[in-house]
Amino acid sequence: MSSCHIFDYSSIFATLIFYYNELHKMEKTIDENVQGTTLAVEGKETNKRNLYIESYGCAMNFADSEIVASILATEGFNTTQTLEDADLILVNTCSIRDKAEQTIRKRLTEYNKVKKSRPHLKVGVLGCMAERLKDKLLDEEKIVDMVVGPDAYKDLPNLIKEVDSGRDAVNVILSKDETYGDIAPVRLNTNGVTAFVSITRGCDNMCTFCVVPFTRGRERSRDPQSILEEVNELKRNGFKEITLLGQNVDSYLWYGGGLKKNFENASEMQKATATSFSKLLETVALANPKMRIRFSTSNPQDMTLDVIETMAKHKNICNHIHLPVQSGSNRILKEMNRLHTIEEYFELIDNIRQILPDCSISQDIISGFPTETEEDHAATLKALEYVKYDFGYMYAYSERPGTLAGRKMDDDVPEKTKKRRLSEIIALQRQHCQYRTEKHVGKVQEVLIEGTSKKSENEWMGRNSQSTVVVFPKENYKVGDFVNVQINDCTSATLKGIAQGYSDNN
Ligand code: SAM
Repeated sequence: MSSCHIFDYSSIFATLIFYYNELHKMEKTIDENVQGTTLAVEGKETNKRNLYIESYGCAMNFADSEIVASILATEGFNTTQTLEDADLILVNTCSIRDKAEQTIRKRLTEYNKVKKSRPHLKVGVLGCMAERLKDKLLDEEKIVDMVVGPDAYKDLPNLIKEVDSGRDAVNVILSKDETYGDIAPVRLNTNGVTAFVSITRGCDNMCTFCVVPFTRGRERSRDPQSILEEVNELKRNGFKEITLLGQNVDSYLWYGGGLKKNFENASEMQKATATSFSKLLETVALANPKMRIRFSTSNPQDMTLDVIETMAKHKNICNHIHLPVQSGSNRILKEMNRLHTIEEYFELIDNIRQILPDCSISQDIISGFPTETEEDHAATLKALEYVKYDFGYMYAYSERPGTLAGRKMDDDVPEKTKKRRLSEIIALQRQHCQYRTEKHVGKVQEVLIEGTSKKSENEWMGRNSQSTVVVFPKENYKVGDFVNVQINDCTSATLKGIAQGYSDNN
């Protein structure tokens, strides 16, 4: 398994991700351990060619790979997990940091070795790196036959015909309305219990450090009806938990289609009948009362009280909010174009704590953004102290070409300083992880079993509502059961307990 947060302590440009990596947790936004996962699903006998699809980056990329596999299943392709059996290799890429792109380039050299013994093999690059580099990628990486941006997957059948006839193929057109809402994703390498459901595509926030608006285009929301149908289908297939996905889910707005930025031009009727994120969340929760609902990611500037109140109203909406802060310094937040102050962020945290006292909160933080001083860094440590996050994802700033910071600001914090500040942030977060997990000890909590614990064949691994991993002896329970577990012990990332019986959610 692998993910978008590339973990390499030995590199001075290393992006450091915290303890999820050590503990093999499968977080819903981005997971280091799922990076590079090969995805495969049972094939159709009539399909004669093998697709090897590997995914890097955020959960959205993994969800997109399921769309791609679904499109290609009707084009004669079965999925394989053996590189040497592939007729087509697709790599779904991430551009969020330089390290992520370097990982993909290394991977392409591995594919090249296979191509030597399978000359008919074709290689396609999908996702954000395809969008960022476009046909430059064909010049730079001779092994690549096809370059496909995140909004062009429906064109894959035509692009494959092009490469089959010996030509290179490129489609990196970003769409104003593509959401793939009409495609039922093929669930790849699934545990059969938890699944991602995309609700928005693109991002309009224009954070100055971030490449996403350039690689995934403007923000659009998906028709709630197609979201409900997808969740229903998952329910019919036995899934017990879904995560609604988007770069900025709180900004979800359905008014009949079109870009979020064009909402102001919508008709009065469209405005009056529009669906907001809290409304969508409530509709999904009410339609599926036995299903757990999660969502990610929330941007503080868009998260509203009605979302928190909706979470409080519905037991099946899990008590976890991923709320990136990026920095504790108002000056740096402004330079990042985060449209809130740290005081407003704290006010949101206070509201969450008041309305949802049991809610876990996680963060993303960037250390060493251009011009960051020791004083700014101290403000970030202070923010960590204020919130005492349950867990977090922490990175050293990586300049991305084309972003506003990349164009207008000097990457002037020395790598050594970025790294030192990052390790201070990580050390403090680690203390808070311990503080938070200890608070679960002594309680009985509902856990949804996802699979066998990585550490012991005799134990199940699942999550509580707060998304903390819980391990406990298997007894006669099975994957997909909701079990009440008495929590007896913890490490900084895992709770340990004993099952007390089925919860009333089965
Ligand atoms: N949409 C979310 C938000 O900004 O609230 C996060 C999306 S981004 C895919 C995930 C995380 O990657 C960000 O929250 C940020 O911490 C990190 N990130 C993005 N650009 C980065 C950069 N240039 N250098 C280091 N970290 C970066």
